[in-house]
Amino acid sequence: MEKRRIAILGSTGSIGTQALDVIREQHAFFTVEILTAHSNATLLIQQAKEFKPNAVVIGDESKFQEVKDALWNDDIKVFAGREALCQIVESTEVDIVLTAMVGAAGLEPTVRAIRSGKMIALANKETLVVAGEMVTKLAREHAVNIYPVDSEHAAIFQCLVGEWDNPIEKIILTASGGPFRGWSREALSAVTKAQALKHPNWSMGAKITIDSSTLMNKGLEVIEAKWLFHLQPEQVEVIVHSQSIIHSMVQFQDGSIKAQMGLPDMKLPIQYALGYPKRLPAAFPRFDFTQYPALTFEAPDKETFRCLQLAYDAMRIGGTAPCVMNAANEIAVQAFLEDRIGFLEIPTLIEGMMESMEIIQQPTLEDFIEIDRATRAKALEGIA
Ligand code: NAD
Ligand code: MG
Repeated sequence: MEKRRIAILGSTGSIGTQALDVIREQHAFFTVEILTAHSNATLLIQQAKEFKPNAVVIGDESKFQEVKDALWNDDIKVFAGREALCQIVESTEVDIVLTAMVGAAGLEPTVRAIRSGKMIALANKETLVVAGEMVTKLAREHAVNIYPVDSEHAAIFQCLVGEWDNPIEKIILTASGGPFRGWSREALSAVTKAQALKHPNWSMGAKITIDSSTLMNKGLEVIEAKWLFHLQPEQVEVIVHSQSIIHSMVQFQDGSIKAQMGLPDMKLPIQYALGYPKRLPAAFPRFDFTQYPALTFEAPDKETFRCLQLAYDAMRIGGTAPCVMNAANEIAVQAFLEDRIGFLEIPTLIEGMMESMEIIQQPTLEDFIEIDRATRAKALEGIA
């Protein structure tokens, strides 16, 4: 396999740093061309000195001089700001763009990467939640493959290899259930951010960890799956599997179900997405059946964890409804992390925005950007 040249958007985050762990291990197969971060200049500089990319981008322009000064002698180009982030993905030196930044901010750079023909390893699920129809259509027009990094979607993708012509009956997304599985609404009303930030099986960035505790993460993944695998809403099912060993399943027309399994470790789906179709040898810890005599399954509690139901609703409404839901969720999660709203106010705020914002059915990229902005502004007003 020829060495693949990788751009990592969000290299200082949970997915970004694990991707660099994979690349460090698999340096015979991958090189790092571009690294970007929002504001963690110290880590970005350290990563740049180790991986010697062609260029780095720091989102926060006030950190530009610091990064530039630190790398002046390393033959690495340094840029800053949002437009630089969108431009850098068009570089001809790049084969694959790993989208590992958080939130709807990933939409524009992903669209620019697709338009310039780059393969996408997609961790940033919000991009497909906000504009899945537009983004997947654009990818088809530009003959660009989108390789899922999200563990559930990576599992489904692996189950589908060799099955491209066989229709899917349904997919079954597994959910850990988060730290509050089995809790009542009453108990949830007093939840603190410290409790919500403790995920039982995965160590991840703060936003997705809160999303996992509300089950909004699974809701976002339902919509992500619809677009990645061309499904109807009723073909996407969620089952709670608290051990996170089966990463998801596909049921085919003959009733047969395929599952992908392994210990929860994001390095596996990251490596698979970057190396597809090859499975590269890796020393990840192996799963032992005798350690897990009981793999359990139960229906999700959509009444208590309303975010999951809201995501199904937004998917069925379509158009800009998922964009509104996502923007409201980003604001709600941030407010919860700042102790400005309680845990149960997260779905209330999202539902309020979904009811009050106008929904457009065939939006353009500009519409998505404007509706994302307007929803955030209105949601913030509702909190203040
Ligand atoms: P994180 O918060 O740990 O890291 C986010 C990264 O994005 C950082 O490098 C940060 O500098 C950068 N960033 C933040 N805001 C930005 C902006 N406005 N513009 C540009 N860059 C920005 O997040 P994470 O947990 O690594 O998650 C990243 C994405 O991957 C999310 O969409 C998440 O849903 C998805 N994902 C994460 C995991 C996981 O295990 N962490 C699993 C599946 C999917
Ligand atoms: Mg996931």
